Amino acid sequence: AALGSDGVRVTMESALTARDRVGVQDFVLLENFTSEAAFIENLRRRFRENLIYTYIGPVLVSVNPYRDLQIYSRQHMERYRGVSFYEVPPHLFAVADTAYRALRTERRDQAVMISGESGAGKTEATKRLLQFYAETCPAPERGGAVRDRLLQSNPVLEAFGNAKTLRNDNSSRFGKYMDVQFDFKGAPVGGHILSYLLEKSRVVHQNHGERNFHIFYQLLEGGEEETLRRLGLERNPQSYLYLVKGQCAKVSSINDKNDWKVVRKALTVIDFTEDEVEDLLSIVASVLHLGNIHFAADEESNAQVTTENQLKYLTRLLGVEGSTLREALTHRKIIAKGEELLSPLNLEQAAYARDALAKAVYSRTFTWLVAKINRSLASKDAESPSWRSTTVLGLLDIYGFEVFQNNSFEQFCINYCNEKLQQLFIELTLKSEQEEYEAEGIAWEPVQYFNNKIICDLVEEKFKGIISILDEECLRPGEATDLTFLEKLEDTVKHHPHFLTHKLADQRTRKSLGRGEFRLLHYAGEVTYNVTGFLDKNNDLLFRNLKEAMCSSENPIMSQCFDRSELSDKKRPETVATQFKMSLLQLVEILKSKEPAYVRCIKPNDAKQPGRFDEVLIRHQVKYLGLMENLRVRRAGFAYRRKYEAFLQRYKSLCPETWPIWAGRPQDGVAVLVRHLGYKPEEYKMGRTKIFIRFPKTLFATEDALEV
Ligand code: ATP
Ligand code: MG
Repeated sequence: AALGSDGVRVTMESALTARDRVGVQDFVLLENFTSEAAFIENLRRRFRENLIYTYIGPVLVSVNPYRDLQIYSRQHMERYRGVSFYEVPPHLFAVADTAYRALRTERRDQAVMISGESGAGKTEATKRLLQFYAETCPAPERGGAVRDRLLQSNPVLEAFGNAKTLRNDNSSRFGKYMDVQFDFKGAPVGGHILSYLLEKSRVVHQNHGERNFHIFYQLLEGGEEETLRRLGLERNPQSYLYLVKGQCAKVSSINDKNDWKVVRKALTVIDFTEDEVEDLLSIVASVLHLGNIHFAADEESNAQVTTENQLKYLTRLLGVEGSTLREALTHRKIIAKGEELLSPLNLEQAAYARDALAKAVYSRTFTWLVAKINRSLASKDAESPSWRSTTVLGLLDIYGFEVFQNNSFEQFCINYCNEKLQQLFIELTLKSEQEEYEAEGIAWEPVQYFNNKIICDLVEEKFKGIISILDEECLRPGEATDLTFLEKLEDTVKHHPHFLTHKLADQRTRKSLGRGEFRLLHYAGEVTYNVTGFLDKNNDLLFRNLKEAMCSSENPIMSQCFDRSELSDKKRPETVATQFKMSLLQLVEILKSKEPAYVRCIKPNDAKQPGRFDEVLIRHQVKYLGLMENLRVRRAGFAYRRKYEAFLQRYKSLCPETWPIWAGRPQDGVAVLVRHLGYKPEEYKMGRTKIFIRFPKTLFATEDALEV
């Protein structure tokens, strides 16, 4: 294999076998490209042959095979290195390599955005990509450990952020964006992780058939006797109320004991000292002890802690005075006219306070963990001159659209996130297409598409957006309820074409809407949200004396998680929705500054089984991933474009006039070449620096000619 001038390997192994070509490997080649049935049929035919990857132009569609297809080996990596997209069967590694090559040759930052619903294979894809870079990129001159750290950050984050759910035995319960930094030689030298909205409610409650975060079970199963003794823990998960709600501590696909070993080792790789591991495990254990704190009512119906043993361990593990903790769990501190008043809690309030504390402790520890990993991933070369020439490749593994029977605040946030990403997709795809056509002097043929900005505005606009109204209601404690929030929404956005409630609906649609619900017409379809819990979840309040107690913690991790400035701050902390909105704005800015690549993941069945193609389920995902719209936009333009030099270099051997050397302008050479190949005028256009080819099949034919 020789290397062409554009870095593309000219290779004979590029021949596609008949099996590789089952169906079409790029949906833009579908005869009937507006037909969803044809789309799904193509997916099915390929899936039956274990061809899980198919393109829509540069977008990779992936169907989870739920079996090890042996397609991620070192050989597979090599096969995709330096090869152009259309020469080889669609593969995740083709996306990986294309992005890496652009990063190297054009020195442009890249972002691979992976989306899809729970269980579709986003996290697996992210891991394969990381592995690809770790194995195929050159090692950095110094600090080779960064490669291990990049890889080892994963099991740690998964232990604390993933859980067994009904949909996925290893479901990520947080969104993740990871930057990998490369030096000027293309070696990975550092990384950085941003995390989004950890599902902390899971710490205190799990639905039937689901588990708490993996780390709890790993510690109980795998922790050394000595460690468990120190932490005051028993091996049996059934002993812990926070672990029994879902009634499925054991999962056949998960080996907690083994995973524990992996995590323990990984912690060392990412620079945890033995003390830090101890502190971290103390916190994990204290969450379990917190869950077992019981209360009984005294004569005045005030809650009293009855589980002294748990309190004793909490005191020790968190390094907080027993009396302080006891008081904080059973009282609420109110400051009135500069005086502190202690108001006792009843049973229900005390249980609420305890759970709120457990959630806060766990989620803040998760945030701390991400920061700690980031310190370990930070390029140690930050001061050296080569730092300035680093480029970045981002990997986004974030929840896709969620539409459940009952949709709440969490789904609202997640679906809003998807609207933002769709908008970015539209903006980046259409705008960059349009700009390129303009720059190349090619007439732009406008594409009809739905611009979902109107929905983003509905959610995020100042003063009259849904988040603003929600925040406003959160400022009226005692008066506002979830229902007054809904009423205010109705008043403010009543005429919006994408918003509906029971009151605003007409006879026809009213039936399907409950009184405590609102419906958003998302770009991908309708979702009905139940407002119950919106205010509480958005406020996310932790009683003041609980915060005070935690600020006094002598556990070094806890004292970093709870800062005294929180107590004196007059300003209210930002609400959850507003924080999320701001972090999304930041994410969009990060992604915008990079060249995008897309992986759209599909889950073939709910049984997590190989070989089963559930058409109803898949049609639903094709819809919510916006794939038909995706295809329409792609088909409207040109599927392929190439700089004249590169095109000529690759195909000049096909024409006697351009072979072996074309002495004139490359553009003229390409003109001669394609005329010789018999391209029809409607199949291509000549831009200022590039040739544009409308259909990949034109290109395939030319590729085929090369191989003869
Ligand atoms: P969530 O949103 O719940 O985090 P996800 O999209 O990240 O879901 P994964 O955890 O990546 O889903 O995949 C779920 C499971 O599917 C994996 O644990 C693995 O068993 C299987 N799987 C996913 N992708 C592949 C693949 N390419 N090859 C083989 N198995 C896969
Ligand atoms: Mg995941």
